Amino acid sequence: MVRFLAVIVAVAALTGCQTETASTPTATVSTQNTNDTRIAKQLFGAARVASAQAPDAVGGYALGCQAGAVQLPETGPTWQAMRLSRNRNWAQPITVDYVQELSRFAATQPGWEGLYVGDMSQPRGGPMLTGHRSHQSGLDIDVWMLPPKRLNLTEAERESISSISMRRAAGAYTNSSWTPQHEAIMKAAASDPRVARIFVFPGAKVAMCNSATGDRSWLNKIRPWWGHHYHFHVRLKCPAGDRNCVDQAPPPPGDGCADAQTWVNNILNPPPPDPNATPAAPRREITMARLPAQCTTILNAN
Ligand SMILES: [Zn+2]
Repeated sequence: MVRFLAVIVAVAALTGCQTETASTPTATVSTQNTNDTRIAKQLFGAARVASAQAPDAVGGYALGCQAGAVQLPETGPTWQAMRLSRNRNWAQPITVDYVQELSRFAATQPGWEGLYVGDMSQPRGGPMLTGHRSHQSGLDIDVWMLPPKRLNLTEAERESISSISMRRAAGAYTNSSWTPQHEAIMKAAASDPRVARIFVFPGAKVAMCNSATGDRSWLNKIRPWWGHHYHFHVRLKCPAGDRNCVDQAPPPPGDGCADAQTWVNNILNPPPPDPNATPAAPRREITMARLPAQCTTILNAN
């Protein structure tokens, strides 16, 4: 009798096992991303072309990816993409349209043939092996501060030529390379309703605060940030209707000039270190599990 019961239990267990096997594919799909400990930058850094999908900026600027990216042509009538070996002249269609339009404006400025365009995103976005924390969702663009004198740079020249720094006194001030044209181009860049923010070193923001006349509303989007003296960084808002895209909170209201001046003051007279400050937590490596689930699909798409 005991033996008979044991057989029944064994059969029940088998049946249960089969049921579980049958349900496994569904369970695997829904939890696949959660358990995926692969390092995202290695996978996205290896993707050479965009996914053959509808355009989609997925996730946030510093934790996302992109589907259906397009490539900024390496050379256009008013721009050249730089550092082609990095293969980062990919972005959402809205971003490529934007930078082409901005370059047409830049070409109207004395001394500027257009724009030298630095990093945008990788073909499928995502984290990069080197360089940026953001630029992941196809909505970020680095624009070189170097005024283009010509737009026939060879591929080799685009690897070797450097941009120029605009800063003096560790970023508290602009230097003699800064021109009214830089301000005019950044004003045009910020005045576009597609733009969320523009990052530039604090001395440039204060310089523009001091020289801007008339409408100052565009200064709201010019945000002081570390680095950003060889290029300025344009960040677009999520495209309308893109439900997978995560916007950043808008900048606080106002022109932000007092805040930028405080930043400058702290560069000139650094406050003593706060003895009670908690050290910054080390940055965690971005695994596939931390990215939106769509990023796995985008990575695997044709
Ligand atoms: Zn950037």
